[in-house]
Amino acid sequence: MRGLFGTCSWVGCDRPAWRCDLDHVTEYNHADPGSGGPTCACNLNPKCRFHHGLKTHTRGWLDDQIIDAHGIVWTEITTPEGITVRRQAANTWLLPELGLLPCDHSDPTTSDPASATRRTTGHAENAPKRTRTRLEAKHRYRMQQRAINRRHRETDQALAALDATDDGLPPF
Ligand SMILES: [Zn+2]
Ligand SMILES: [Zn+2]
Repeated sequence: MRGLFGTCSWVGCDRPAWRCDLDHVTEYNHADPGSGGPTCACNLNPKCRFHHGLKTHTRGWLDDQIIDAHGIVWTEITTPEGITVRRQAANTWLLPELGLLPCDHSDPTTSDPASATRRTTGHAENAPKRTRTRLEAKHRYRMQQRAINRRHRETDQALAALDATDDGLPPF
C-alpha cells in the first residue's frame, strides 16, 4: 500500500509513504476482529504521523477508502465542516492490478478461525457485562458516518448516470 500511494494518503499531503504509518481506515477491532475493519488492501493506507494523529485524536475528521469499478483506489477525507475531498492513489500506474484483487474477508465468521475459537471460550459470556467504551463508541460512530457517505456517493453516481442518459448526449 505504501508503494501504491507513494505518499501519505491524506488529501494534499506529500510526506513520503515509506516514513508513514499503515493505518486501518475502518478501525481494527482487537477484541473482535470480525466486526472491525479488515487488514486488507481495501482498508489500509499510509498516513504520516501528523495525519494519523489528526484522524485518531481530533474530533470531526473522517477518512474512507474506495476502490472504483476500474480498480482505482481513492481516499476520501471529510472535514469537521462536512466538506468531502478525494484523492486518487498516485502510483496506480505502477500497480494497476492491486485494486482488482478480490477480498477474502467477506464472511467474518469463517475467515478468521482464531476469532471464532475465541468467541466460544466462554470468557466473554461469564465476564460482567461491560458498557461500550468511548473508543468503541467513536469507532462505531465513524462506521455509521462512512456508511452514510457511501450511500450519498451511490446516489450521486445514480443521478449522474441519469443525467448522462437523459437526452442521449454526454453531460457536456
Ligand atoms: Zn500526511
Ligand atoms: Zn478487502
